[in-house]
Amino acid sequence: MLLSGVLMRISVILFDWGGTLVEVSRQAFALRQGILSAGVIQDDEAGNEAANRLREAFQTADARASSGPPWAEFNMDEVVAEWLSTINYDAAPGRLKNICDGLRQAWVGSLDPFPGALETVAQLKTRGYRLGLVSNCSVPPLYCRQELARQGFSRLLDFAVFSSEIGFRKPSPEIYQEAIRQAFPDGRPADLSNVLFVGDSPAYDVSAPAALGMKTALVRCRHGIWPAADYDEARPYLHIDAVSDLPALLD
Ligand SMILES: [Mg+2]
Repeated sequence: MLLSGVLMRISVILFDWGGTLVEVSRQAFALRQGILSAGVIQDDEAGNEAANRLREAFQTADARASSGPPWAEFNMDEVVAEWLSTINYDAAPGRLKNICDGLRQAWVGSLDPFPGALETVAQLKTRGYRLGLVSNCSVPPLYCRQELARQGFSRLLDFAVFSSEIGFRKPSPEIYQEAIRQAFPDGRPADLSNVLFVGDSPAYDVSAPAALGMKTALVRCRHGIWPAADYDEARPYLHIDAVSDLPALLD
């Protein structure tokens, strides 16, 4: 049984995106569909193998970008260009852009809101909270915003900050500072304890925002996604099973 109203004097809520508001498991399928539609691979075993290698290349780029300061977001196009060379596909610059745009278009539509997430964000908006999104996403902001609109979150959120737009990802200071700037258009308060950061990553959504003075809610997610050490270090203000737990916890 959850306590009610344990989060007092919160006025701003910052949400992580993947694993918090939306499920991301269909991204891999969308990636394969994107390169298939672009004619880079065939719908056969060799094509599947090549698609898996591209997925692994993105995971490697992601891990490298997250490995330490300055936590700069990686460039999708560079990863695709390198992967194309490994499958001996000779793409001229214009062709590379077309392939990458096709990948991004296939990605739009691949993130599914968790049950109740949209309704919860709508409820929090009605209750008057200022709401923002702070997401690590290498997909360029144009496509992120298309996907956020398709999901229905855009009309509910006051702002969204994407690492692909800022150039740096969580836990870099730059991305949180931009979120704080947009959360407080009239000027940043010295005390950020009325900001609640909600997310599934113990390092990016709890430890780093907490170090800036924010309150935090760690969303339980699939086990094994984040390093055990991150969970050991994180001291979330609250543990929740899903964002739909939040309204009852806010006074
Ligand atoms: Mg997440």
